[in-house]
Amino acid sequence: GGNAGEHNSWSFSSDVCKHCEQAGCLEACPTGSIVRTEFGGVFIQPDVCNGCGYCVTACPFGVVERNEKDGRAFKCTFCYDRQKVGLQPACAKACPTESIKFGEIEDLRREAQSRVEELHRRGMGDATIYDPLDTSVEGTHAFFIVRGDPRTYNLPPAPEVPTVYLKKSWRSSAIAAGLLLGGTLVAFLSDGARHDGRAR
Ligand code: SF4
Ligand code: SF4
Repeated sequence: GGNAGEHNSWSFSSDVCKHCEQAGCLEACPTGSIVRTEFGGVFIQPDVCNGCGYCVTACPFGVVERNEKDGRAFKCTFCYDRQKVGLQPACAKACPTESIKFGEIEDLRREAQSRVEELHRRGMGDATIYDPLDTSVEGTHAFFIVRGDPRTYNLPPAPEVPTVYLKKSWRSSAIAAGLLLGGTLVAFLSDGARHDGRAR
């Protein structure tokens, strides 16, 4: 049956790192271990990681894991070592059906759009591109064609970078601090006015 609309079909999910445009793991890492590479990927430098685990909870996709022996974080590297020498990631190279494609992101987005249109023509009207451009993640560098609810593939419908909420709460704290300072000044001024009143 494969993906033919009238037959039962297989669904495959991938828990690979999405190499987010705004990466929660990178934002949360206090040591600078997680960096954006020149190829657009998000890379954990194992020699800098201290094993704190902040990135594990900051990833909206549950991608990062920690080494059981030394606690250091690890995930897909987007085959940084291969890309450095002009090779494509091993998964894209090895996939026999070319289900995994690698290339310039805008070319791939266009290709994905054509593929979705083709699937719609073939009766699979629920096919969509999973690439959360309209959330604080602002899109991913590894995106997927899915059918129906993305949660079936363990993909959150609206992933968010957790530090977005931190920034909001910092802004609220700053406003609260400003108000507190204002309140203190008023208190001092009123107190001063009372003293002035007594002195006269
Ligand atoms: S999917 Fe998770 S681990 Fe990968 S870049 Fe995004 S936040 Fe980081
Ligand atoms: S576990 Fe390592 S990579 Fe993750 S946040 Fe801590 S130092 Fe950074």
